[in-house]
Amino acid sequence: MSDIFDKCANFTRAREIMALGLYPYFTEIASAQETEVEIEGKRVLMLGSNCYLGLTCHPRVIEAAEAALKKYGSGCAGSRFLNGTLDIHRRLEERLAAFLNQEAALVFSTGFQANLGTISALVVRGEFVLIDRLDHASIIDGTRLAMGEIKKFRHNNMEDLERVLQSCGEAGKMVAVDGVFSMEGDIAPLDRIVPLAHRYGARVLVDDAHSVGVLGPGGRGTAAHFGLEKEVDVITITFSKSFSSIGGAAAGSEELIHYLKHHARSLIFSASLPPASVAAVMACLDIIEEEPERRERLWAITRKMKDGFSELGFDTGPSETPIIPLFIGDLEKTFTMRKLLLDAGIFVNPVVPPAVPPEQTLIRASFMATHTDKQLDYALETFEKIGRRLGII
Ligand code: PMP
Repeated sequence: MSDIFDKCANFTRAREIMALGLYPYFTEIASAQETEVEIEGKRVLMLGSNCYLGLTCHPRVIEAAEAALKKYGSGCAGSRFLNGTLDIHRRLEERLAAFLNQEAALVFSTGFQANLGTISALVVRGEFVLIDRLDHASIIDGTRLAMGEIKKFRHNNMEDLERVLQSCGEAGKMVAVDGVFSMEGDIAPLDRIVPLAHRYGARVLVDDAHSVGVLGPGGRGTAAHFGLEKEVDVITITFSKSFSSIGGAAAGSEELIHYLKHHARSLIFSASLPPASVAAVMACLDIIEEEPERRERLWAITRKMKDGFSELGFDTGPSETPIIPLFIGDLEKTFTMRKLLLDAGIFVNPVVPPAVPPEQTLIRASFMATHTDKQLDYALETFEKIGRRLGII
């Protein structure tokens, strides 16, 4: 008789990496998500955070979260659908709709849930959802929950997308892509995807998790970057990156959002976003609107680091954003590089299979508007030393 837990006993891969002293996951951090964090009593330069604008500890954000905590308490004890909608959820939705230049928005409790609920509610039996091979796990899982059929196309490859669109015939269809790809840092070519998809009668969903607050005029995301805010059909975002909080949202037409409010199961059957988190997002939105210099600084850092890494001889692939991958293409070297960097006081994330194919393992460095030039120069010096030692450059 087989035991369903056999797979747990047989799962040895992570333990093997632990035995080598190279295990990189669940690292305990004893401080806030700022440019320097505390790990095992040491100050470490954080180059692995998605806190692109560095707002986690901004006094206005903390103050807003504290005030909401005091006024509304710690949680909503129910879903948006029933007892869990606060006036500040509604206000945030109005502000997000205006910010993203859409008719309406709907706040979910995470970005993951926004994708799950939106995609699974929209794509029903007999319909198709077309995804880029490098789309985020939350898009993939949303398509798995959807009753319609999943089709994949090669990363950012318009010929392949057209082939797949043709294969769907007259049935309803939606193309779902990351606006900025989370590991590679490249941008989905919406200027080509949107007209192509619309030509075949397909709707387009853009996951702007890594773009909102960062990319496009005012930080309004990938659609804004291409001047296509009115053409894109659904935008999903997360609050766990530039908005330094947790939660997510979908935005689009009033009709779409009304439908999602009554069909998105991850919204209806899960408790709503806690008040302090909602207030933190609103404070971040104020700062994003009032302080464009933060975004400008982030882009100056991005250029400096992309050029710096390339000049050192690292392969940074197609990245165009503050997510800069350094392709290593060797599992053990990737883990070793991450460990040597941590020993030298720098935190980065290794990206290995199944997230990427084995020949594309990489170190993912990501940057915050609050990084100083001194920190960045230290990073370049240290990456150079370790890259040379490992024969990567
Ligand atoms: N989409 C993308 C592209 C992401 O990178 C992430 C987070 N890693 C999510 C969605 C999920 O967002 P959240 O953290 O809010 O669940």
